[in-house]
Order: sequence, then C-alpha cells, then structure tokens
Amino acid sequence: MLIDTHCHIHDKGCFELPPDETLAHMHENGVDKCIVIGTDPLDSVVARNFALQHAEVWWTYGYHPNDYDGNKAKLESDLKLAKSDTLKSEKLVAIGEIGLDYHFDGYRRDWQIYLLENILQIAQDMQLPVSFHIRDAFDDFWPIFDNFHLVPSVLHSFSDSEENLERGIRKGLYFGVNGLSTFAQIPHPPLERVILETDAPYLTPKPFRGTINMPGYIKNIAEWAAGHYNLDFNEIAKVTSANVNKLFKI
Ligand SMILES: [Zn+2]
Repeated sequence: MLIDTHCHIHDKGCFELPPDETLAHMHENGVDKCIVIGTDPLDSVVARNFALQHAEVWWTYGYHPNDYDGNKAKLESDLKLAKSDTLKSEKLVAIGEIGLDYHFDGYRRDWQIYLLENILQIAQDMQLPVSFHIRDAFDDFWPIFDNFHLVPSVLHSFSDSEENLERGIRKGLYFGVNGLSTFAQIPHPPLERVILETDAPYLTPKPFRGTINMPGYIKNIAEWAAGHYNLDFNEIAKVTSANVNKLFKI
C-alpha cells in the first residue's frame, strides 16, 4: 500500500489534468489513497467536495501563510463558518497546510503568526493532526508549536537543517518526504518518522522533472527511499503506510 499524503489535485487553478485520469494513473502505479490539501477556506471546501466525490481521497482544512491578507474580521468569520459547518464534514484528516513562510520578500510576519495561532487553536480543540508548511521560519515556529498540545503532526516537505530535523524528531513530529529528495541534498529523518507525499503539481521527482507532478509518482519517491534507507520497496510501503495510519487514521 502506498499513500500520497499531500497533493493539490482538486485545485483546477494549479492542477490542470482531469481527476479521473490522475486517479487512474495513481492506481496504475500502486498508489491506493491520497490526501488533498486545502490552502485557504474556499480551497478547503473544494478539497472537501473532491474527497466526498472520490472513494480513495481524503482532505484537509488549511490556510497557507502566504495567502492571508491580514483581515482579522474576515478570518474570524471564515473560522466560525468552518467550525459550524465545513469541519464537520466526513473524511477530514488534518488541519493544514498552515505555518510560516519567510522565503519571499514582502511577507508579513505578524499576519502569519496571528493566522497560525488562530488555526492551531482549532487543531488543538478538535484533536486533529496538523500538516505544517514551515519555510525559513523555524526560529519563530518552535516557541509557537510548544505553546499548543497537538496530537502527532507532520512537517510537510521538510528541507531545513539537521538541527531542526533533530528538534522535530525530539518533539514527536513526522516528516513529509517528497520529490525534493530525488534531486536535492537535504537531511532525512529516520524511516519510522517518514510519510510520503508528492505536493503535486509541484516538486516533480526524478526522472520526470519538467513535467507536472502526480500522486502516481509516489512510486518513484518510494523507490528513492528504498535506495536511501537500503530496504526492500515493499518494506518502505509498509512502514510509511503504517505511519500514515498512525497520524491520519486512513
Ligand atoms: Zn502543498
């Protein structure tokens, strides 16, 4: 069993292939399930509707740090609606992606922290795992993370330092390993903390660089992992799927 724990195939704005073709390709490659990730309140509803239409798909409610415009009243009404309606839907497995992203100039640190803290409160109240997007912002992230009591959660697309990897391991976090590992030099967690993801349509793994990423390419990421961890492909599938089950109960 293989599972893509992070993709955006529900979002027609960024993912252009037809869903049926994409899911057929996923199954042809031995990938049984996927999780579509919401990146703002509206996109999360699209993710939910996509999951409710497809047996092999689950969804998350998220708000990407770069997508928040600092409007507090709007955030409050969005989250109120989410709590009374959206978050009660079936097949919701996590809150995220949420986090901090200081990579590109012009980001608003205060807005991002405000958003993150508000949404983490919901994750804590609902005892839902979190899919974190943290980029160039771990110094701000750790104290915020330590203020909440979350169920085991994941650092999606982790590519930061060895030091932050060690910290994440000590804090009980899991790590989303994706196509980046097939073409970039980044630190790698022990397999017992790894879940596989594509982040499709982004971060296409080798040997498909330059084309659109798809959940079926989890197979190629698992092949990379088999080489890296020096284990049988089936063992990689077994351990990473068991980790997904611990986190997301699918
Ligand atoms: Zn993503």
